[in-house]
Amino acid sequence: MLAAASAPALAQGAKPPACTPGRVTPAQTEGPFYSARAPLKANFRGDAKGEPLVLEGVVLGPDCRPVAGAWLDFWHADAQGAYDNSGYRLRGHQFADADGRYRLETIVPALYPGRARHIHVKLRAPKGDRVLTTQVYFPDDPGNARDGLYRPELVARRTPGALAFDFVLGG
Ligand code: FE
Repeated sequence: MLAAASAPALAQGAKPPACTPGRVTPAQTEGPFYSARAPLKANFRGDAKGEPLVLEGVVLGPDCRPVAGAWLDFWHADAQGAYDNSGYRLRGHQFADADGRYRLETIVPALYPGRARHIHVKLRAPKGDRVLTTQVYFPDDPGNARDGLYRPELVARRTPGALAFDFVLGG
């Protein structure tokens, strides 16, 4: 059942989720620009102009099994490098589907001083009370090497038409 449901995603050229049991996605600082209570929104394209970007993947548990219904709350800078700190442009939460899959349709965030290009996210399992706060980085971004927060484990992989990143939540 699960394998059948996953097959179409793999057929699109995505690699199977990279997951080693017990190796959870590292946490990162939320930074100064998190806003709680962002709306349910998986498509940010109407929020700001910019180069279209899809970030998608799977939320997995520490046993590498999909976490159906996981909460994901994304926020990032616009194409000028600014965050919306008074409203919810480029901010929104969504829930992973029954196979743990999520998909964010957005725009490419700009670089801003001192940082590599990145997307912030908080995640939580449906019955969990522990929130993972982290950041996803872009492959081949020259800013990565200059950013002290950058970690190679947090780089998305490039797939046809999208960036992909699979999160592994702790227990
Ligand atoms: Fe940031």
